[in-house]
Amino acid sequence: MVSPGKLRLVSELAEGSKDSYRPTVDEGRDVTYPAVDETLVSEETRPKDALESLTEREILERTFEGKVYTCPECREGEMTYATACPRCQSLYIVDTELLQCGGCGRAAPPEAFEDDDGEIVCHGCGSTMESMDQLERTSRYRCHDCGEQHVTPAHALRCENETGHRGGGFACDPHDAVEHALFRYRLGESGEPWLETQVRARRTIAEALEDRGYAVEEDATVTTDAGSQHRLHVYATDELLGKGAVVSVHEQPTVGDVDALETTARELSAQALLVPTLGVVDESVVNRADAADVRIVTVTDEGEIEREYEVTENLGDDRSFLGRLTSSLR
Ligand SMILES: [Zn+2]
Ligand SMILES: [Zn+2]
Ligand SMILES: [Zn+2]
Repeated sequence: MVSPGKLRLVSELAEGSKDSYRPTVDEGRDVTYPAVDETLVSEETRPKDALESLTEREILERTFEGKVYTCPECREGEMTYATACPRCQSLYIVDTELLQCGGCGRAAPPEAFEDDDGEIVCHGCGSTMESMDQLERTSRYRCHDCGEQHVTPAHALRCENETGHRGGGFACDPHDAVEHALFRYRLGESGEPWLETQVRARRTIAEALEDRGYAVEEDATVTTDAGSQHRLHVYATDELLGKGAVVSVHEQPTVGDVDALETTARELSAQALLVPTLGVVDESVVNRADAADVRIVTVTDEGEIEREYEVTENLGDDRSFLGRLTSSLR
């Protein structure tokens, strides 16, 4: 199982309370997912990393929504496109309609084809015309700073953060701006079956604790007296004895999962229970759990909680072994 927050991300899509997670650009600084931030509460995973790791497992699927560029200098501004002069890099280059002489190719504004007597003449090659219609319409990018005309302009991105740069604005070559691809995340192909398996595993341990007389809450958000928030797979409390239990359910528990569970249990003065849903735990995790007073338990088919599980060495490195185990569960 994943963290409670990540699980909630998926169940909100499956329940339909959200149809997708959409990106926003945080004051031009970075791409964020506000709805994901809310759901992850105090978890340390970055929203984007949480979404990406679920996407890798096809629990979510993502669609490309576009791109934004942010400023490499001030790191705050969003960038917008501007044409630039290929010669002097000025942005004051304007697409201008011009007339072009068919003889020499000179392109200029209409008034530049008139002489003092009002005759129509090309000052490039000296040829004369009876009407302006004999000149071709064309356009050029005219630089108002250096006076050059260009058929194609250079490309630039301009920072919108006007107060962020000394001496006015900032523009750069598009290659130098910071590019952010925007993705929108929806429930993926494996989303529903995966969620079902996870919720069933959580339900099993919750029911077993209920049978033992605990008041049980699944996917609980608990606030400590000190004000810190914890999101738990299962929170079990015992009114009579006082000491409750915090439960973390994982396919393949890691040492990091044990660390997090230890902290939560300490802050809530509760017993920590770790449930490996495959019944297999890496030796390093077992050792860490012993030291952290995190109890590893499994639930039998009859709903009994017991402390029996298989211990392996280097489970983390043996992907094929884990792959076989997890694929049989899907
Ligand atoms: Zn900037
Ligand atoms: Zn001419
Ligand atoms: Zn120029």
